[in-house]
Amino acid sequence: MKKLDIKKGTLVVLGAGSSIGASLFPTKERINYLESNKMPSGANFFYDIFLQSFKKDNNYVAINHLDFWHEGLNKLIVHTWGLKHNKSNFKLEEWKDINVEDVFTFIDIGTQMYHKGTNYHKSFDSCRDGLISFITSILSMKSDGLYCEYLAKILKELDPEDSLISFNWDTIADYTVQYIKSPIYNEYINLMKHDKIHLYKYRVLPVLLKLHGSLNWFICSNPDCSYFNRPRLAVKDDLLKNIFHSQRCPICGNEKCKQLIIPPTSQKVIKPNTFLHKLWLIARYKLCLCRQILFIGYSFPITDFYSEWLFKQIYYIDGNLPDIIIVNPEIMKKNSYVSRRYETIFHGCKLYKYCTLDEFVNNGLFHLRNI
Ligand SMILES: [Zn+2]
Repeated sequence: MKKLDIKKGTLVVLGAGSSIGASLFPTKERINYLESNKMPSGANFFYDIFLQSFKKDNNYVAINHLDFWHEGLNKLIVHTWGLKHNKSNFKLEEWKDINVEDVFTFIDIGTQMYHKGTNYHKSFDSCRDGLISFITSILSMKSDGLYCEYLAKILKELDPEDSLISFNWDTIADYTVQYIKSPIYNEYINLMKHDKIHLYKYRVLPVLLKLHGSLNWFICSNPDCSYFNRPRLAVKDDLLKNIFHSQRCPICGNEKCKQLIIPPTSQKVIKPNTFLHKLWLIARYKLCLCRQILFIGYSFPITDFYSEWLFKQIYYIDGNLPDIIIVNPEIMKKNSYVSRRYETIFHGCKLYKYCTLDEFVNNGLFHLRNI
């Protein structure tokens, strides 16, 4: 006799496309400098940032401010990617298609190839720090106080126990769950507060799992401090105020707190027994109970080995395979990379496809109503 399937509910997964594609609504007056209503894409990160970098007379003016974040980072990219017209000047067009993940991977491998203390190691390492502070600061400024109206509509349809996974560092998902007073928000705050996380307990609790870290999570570098390797949520105002300076640890006073994020590189590593490792295990538990997974703007990049591992766990769980709902313009293109990835990873699952969030919110919300 076939086992009774006790799976119910939905797991929502957000990728980079969910931030880019969504309409974002400012909830407070924003900084004029670096103003824009569009989040940058990974594939065109530098181009998008430079293009939107300064607003003058209602037109966006392109500015390259890489040197402001790290002296030498601009030079490294111009030299390595062969940007002929950027040697003495700045020409925006040449920055098109320079993927932030490729740049990160190049610098990351550089730090591993040379011994600590050598000049090569030092220069790659400082470029890496510079790139991290460039990305995190820009995204902090852009996503501060913004929520996504489409995501809010989707989350309102969820069951009270449903959860949300985000692979994004930006705070749009956080603000959205807070804004609509979703139960996901309360459990997320509890999760961030608890020193000891009982993994099994979170199996049935609604929670936000930011599996690549977050711009507003800070860890302390002092091994004797309770915030060592254990993130704390930055206070909202704290975050913007401290973008240009190091964060101060409220427990031990250490001035060198860093944001906890998994950099966009092919060298992603989740270390055993860390906070992030626990979040990944909670995500694994979540898969046991959901009857469907809704992916918004997630493209399964080839370098996200961990997420491929995570979602392939559905084949080791009793009961029917979950249905897969995908919201991504690329999924509609036959034989696109995204299409092929989903067909391969979710062989045997029913796939439902939507091009945009707008289309899904207008025509696909019935999937979430557990009739
Ligand atoms: Zn500390």
